[in-house]
Amino acid sequence: MVIKEKNIDNNEINKFNQLASRWWDPEGDFKPLHDINPLRIDYINKYKNLNEQKILDIGCGGGILSEAMALKGGIVTGIDMAESALNVAKIHQIESKTDVDYKLTTVENLAAHEEGTYDIVTCLEMIEHVPSPKEVIESCSKLLKPGGSAFFSTINRNPKAFIYAILGAEHILKLLPIGTHEYAKFVKPSELEYWARNASLDLKDSTGLIYNPFTKNYSLEKNLDVNYLMFFKKKITQ
Ligand code: SAH
Repeated sequence: MVIKEKNIDNNEINKFNQLASRWWDPEGDFKPLHDINPLRIDYINKYKNLNEQKILDIGCGGGILSEAMALKGGIVTGIDMAESALNVAKIHQIESKTDVDYKLTTVENLAAHEEGTYDIVTCLEMIEHVPSPKEVIESCSKLLKPGGSAFFSTINRNPKAFIYAILGAEHILKLLPIGTHEYAKFVKPSELEYWARNASLDLKDSTGLIYNPFTKNYSLEKNLDVNYLMFFKKKITQ
């Protein structure tokens, strides 16, 4: 039997393990994720009420999104391959009194065991850190019930995204540690939509997540040039 190579970039996982202690510092290395969290939670909850839904959060890190979805009434499982980040997530929820089920596993592994069991999968700011985003998307679709909802967010790949997301965010404004992102791994909206469509996921909406360096605020706008979020529904019949 051929065992499929895991869809993991160990350098990426090490990077997130090393940053583990910083996850819950709202002014620290993950400040952008804290700042965009209310916007993305509102976006997700607008398209799919999270209450009592069985949700899988893929690449959950320290649990910033997982906890917020649990606080909206979701029954959340969070998975990640950075063990130190998961340990931080587990400790933090004692404070926040949430009940997320955190697991050290890959989406591919879970898809082999829990096909068709989730109402919602979220995979935010994760696919630009894996060797094959296409495989992650296929596994996300497999894990969903027919008619289930999938939310992905990532960074577009074009010169403007390079200037904003790498030069601007990492080197000039220092919003993120240098080396957080690699340009070649960014994903164009057309690529994400194509992989999703081939995995029985229909695009329902997309929105840009825009940072204004002058007001230091984020907003959701139609422009997908840099950061963007996409909402899909899994086909009922395949
Ligand atoms: N989704 C969270 C965290 C994004 S940071 C949020 O938006 O708030 C990216 C996360 O993806 C990190 O925690 C990293 O460890 C995780 N990750 C990267 N490659 C992964 C893989 N192959 N499987 C699971 N998690 C992965």
